[in-house]
Amino acid sequence: MADYYRAGSGLRPPAAALQSWTDGLAGNDAARLSALLTAFLASDWAALSTPLEVERPVNLLLPAGGLTVRITGALDLLLAKDLQIVDFKTEREITPAARANHALQMYLYREALARETGREPPAPVLVHVRPEGLQALPLTPDELAAQAPRLEALLGRLAAHASGAPCPPVPGPHCAWCTFAGVCAEGGQAAKGPGA
Ligand code: SF4
Repeated sequence: MADYYRAGSGLRPPAAALQSWTDGLAGNDAARLSALLTAFLASDWAALSTPLEVERPVNLLLPAGGLTVRITGALDLLLAKDLQIVDFKTEREITPAARANHALQMYLYREALARETGREPPAPVLVHVRPEGLQALPLTPDELAAQAPRLEALLGRLAAHASGAPCPPVPGPHCAWCTFAGVCAEGGQAAKGPGA
């Protein structure tokens, strides 16, 4: 989607271009990606006419005890006029646990953007890209409010660990995105999903 937006919204790639995006993928993966691309191109999200920023970098420095934690990331899409953060998600199902993790990510991105711009961005929107159509899932005020104490607890754990306290693995859906999943016995199983 980043390539699509960079090329200019309103662009409708021909079928041949769609095909090239799925080249090299195994059958089921190619079919799924093709279905997701078709759904995206048929949606209003493929025809945005507002100023956009694609994969805009964000940086956030947070105190944690005597440490400073740097959070970095990139916004999938920013509707620049309103500072509307949009994040596309392509998992088959957004479970409550996954949504909670997405909410923390979006909270951090929104904080970074607020500090950088001096404005308060609206609630970020997750867009679930599904073969049957895209679904916009704005984060609720309650979800956003829940992230501040959650972040504080995480930073507290980090600071305690830096001071020598044990830091045991906490496996969960987030392990799917962890670069240590291959060497982490507890998280490796969680990263494969239930029943794997
Ligand atoms: S894979 Fe292990 S280290 Fe990574 S998030 Fe999961 S439990 Fe933590």
